[in-house]
Amino acid sequence: MSDPKTALITGAASGIGAEIAKTLFNEGCHVVVADLNEPDYLSNLAYEMQRALYVPTDLSKQESCEALIARVVQEFGSVDILVNNAGFQHISPLEDFPESVWDKMLQVMLTAPFLLTRYVFPGMKQKQWGRIINMGSIHSQVASLNKAGYIAAKHGLVGLTKSTALEGGPFGITANVICPAYVRTPLVEQQIAAQAETLGLSLEEVESQVFLKASATGKMIEPAEVAAMVSYLCSDQAKSITGSCWTIDGGWTAQ
Ligand code: NAD
Repeated sequence: MSDPKTALITGAASGIGAEIAKTLFNEGCHVVVADLNEPDYLSNLAYEMQRALYVPTDLSKQESCEALIARVVQEFGSVDILVNNAGFQHISPLEDFPESVWDKMLQVMLTAPFLLTRYVFPGMKQKQWGRIINMGSIHSQVASLNKAGYIAAKHGLVGLTKSTALEGGPFGITANVICPAYVRTPLVEQQIAAQAETLGLSLEEVESQVFLKASATGKMIEPAEVAAMVSYLCSDQAKSITGSCWTIDGGWTAQ
């Protein structure tokens, strides 16, 4: 990245988003964290340097998404890098899947990425430079049982990414989707704990026998591995990489 960029990362108070925010901050970006919760890792120094900003945001609400972009533009002038990362999981069979949860999953994980992309597009077009990275999942490509809302939203994100890539291409804007399998974050740790209780197994047994069953490497992915991919996709060397899915799955989908 040649000159300092402004990077907006949603869902960056925790897990993968937090690691992405720290990585891009260390690479010299102005970093904006949009989340329901305030991050605990951005130091006073970062705020004082005016290189970091937390904007309380509920991505399930259109007006909150709109206000977020207005605030970032007011503080930093533009959004150069948008990482649509926020997400959550809900596990239940189709016939019990609450409609309200389905709606919220699509709002946070598909509609918000669409809205934010729409709001940052004019500024990126003007600058003839932009990077949009959508956090998909291995569940953007394959399904697992009892995750209909998550899987539908994550598959939809691939379509949004491809459309964004086509429309952004002539203006130096790239759009890609990253598709990780299980990454060691609070989101997954909660699922492991719940499964351990249901199945009467230890946390280690659930991790190896359930979560890593389809993994060739047999290892959980670390958030830093995903952040490194984001960093590369944001670089000038990646300017021709667009409209693609970047799978980080320890060999899950090789079978
Ligand atoms: P996480 O739970 O650690 O972090 C998710 C963040 O999103 C939280 O800080 C949460 O507050 C925020 N968030 C949720 N709803 C929000 C809303 N309405 N408005 C604003 N912020 C909201 O989870 P994570 O594992 O770091 O997941 C990050 C992304 O990566 C998600 O999109 C997830 O689907 C995806 N992903 C995770 C894994 C994994 O194994 N952890 C694998 C593939 C994809």
